[in-house]
Amino acid sequence: MRERILAVNKLQVSFNTYAGEVQAVRDVTFDLYKGETLAIVGESGCGKSVTAKSLMRLNPEPPAVIKGGEIIFENRDITNLKEKEMQRIRGSQISMIFQDPMTSLNPTMTVGRQITEGLKKHQKLTEVEAQKVAIQMLKLVQIPNAESRFKEYPHQFSGGMRQRVMIAMALVCNPKILIADEPTTALDVTIQAQILELMKELQNKIDTSIILITHDLGVVAHIAERIVVMYGGKVVEKGRSEDIFYRSKHPYTWGLLKSVPRLDIKRNAGRLSSIEGTPPDLLAPPPGCPFADRCQYAMKICRIEMPPMFEIYQLHGAACWINHPQAPTKVKEEV
Ligand code: SF4
Repeated sequence: MRERILAVNKLQVSFNTYAGEVQAVRDVTFDLYKGETLAIVGESGCGKSVTAKSLMRLNPEPPAVIKGGEIIFENRDITNLKEKEMQRIRGSQISMIFQDPMTSLNPTMTVGRQITEGLKKHQKLTEVEAQKVAIQMLKLVQIPNAESRFKEYPHQFSGGMRQRVMIAMALVCNPKILIADEPTTALDVTIQAQILELMKELQNKIDTSIILITHDLGVVAHIAERIVVMYGGKVVEKGRSEDIFYRSKHPYTWGLLKSVPRLDIKRNAGRLSSIEGTPPDLLAPPPGCPFADRCQYAMKICRIEMPPMFEIYQLHGAACWINHPQAPTKVKEEV
């Protein structure tokens, strides 16, 4: 078993709004191992991005507040670190890339300067040393003519190239964890594939662990070793990629899988299916399973009591009552 680098235990994050407390992340638990890629998957509003940002304390506090649980990074509890200590971790130990590089890159500074800033701050390099490392990094992310492009501004790069610059910035200080929040959503399909391939390649070279946040299970198929599925602020299923793709034990995951385009399966009228209904209101989450209103297998217990995470096999678990040993056989057979 690989060394565990991050443990998130029963994390609870809420947003205090005028309408009341939005319970965005509810008892989220997962581990991340050294050198692995873990995907956190779910619809918009399921809590995946709030969870990821909480690891770096990037949710604005207030209105966000960590109400409970712990985030253990390299055996150290970083849940309530002071902002100054968090700044030492951000960028150098844990870094993040976002969906739209244009909002994360500074349009008034050359990309070279933006990369060297982190090196000078975290690694105390001189300007000349930092420039050398930054140009090497631009080459590593396959930006052609790295020496001259180093002096250019973000608007002079295409969308895919800007995302490569973001990856260079995020990896230049050799972070132990890279969090990628929907890194390819704004890109077209071919560029998406190139960026994912690049991340995989760099992961092997730099030996970093990756947390990939996405709403698209198709994106994670080739890159993630393990997958955490979130719904209504909760983890509803987790397991190795093959568990999730071939042996899933949760109706919500089945819905997500049916919405992934597959060339090997002929679907009705060539259409992808979507999950009917809407996610629960996290201002007043239901006492039972958050998926009950949209689930065709819902039983009486589902609306009354939250299903625990049933262990299916080793790292595979699913929070769904149909996995209870005494669940009606009929439901199991239909599944
Ligand atoms: Fe459906 Fe019940 Fe399972 Fe929730 S616990 S996914 S409602 S069967």
